[in-house]
Amino acid sequence: MEKVVCHVCLSESNENDNKVYLKSICRGEEVYVCTSCIPQVIHGSGDVVKTKAEVEEIVKNR
Ligand SMILES: [Zn+2]
Repeated sequence: MEKVVCHVCLSESNENDNKVYLKSICRGEEVYVCTSCIPQVIHGSGDVVKTKAEVEEIVKNR
C-alpha cells in the first residue's frame, strides 16, 4: 500500500497499521487525514490541515 501522511498530525500510514487514512480535498488540494484527526477537521476551521508542500517539507527533513 502506498504510504500516506496525515496532514494534521503527520503520522505515517506505514507506522500506524491500525489507523485509517481518509482522502479529502482541502483548499483545492488532495490531502489525507487519519481517523483520530477527522473530528478536528470536521469541527475546526480547516486551518489544522497542512498543505501538501508543508507536509512534504516536514517528512523530508525527518
Ligand atoms: Zn492525524
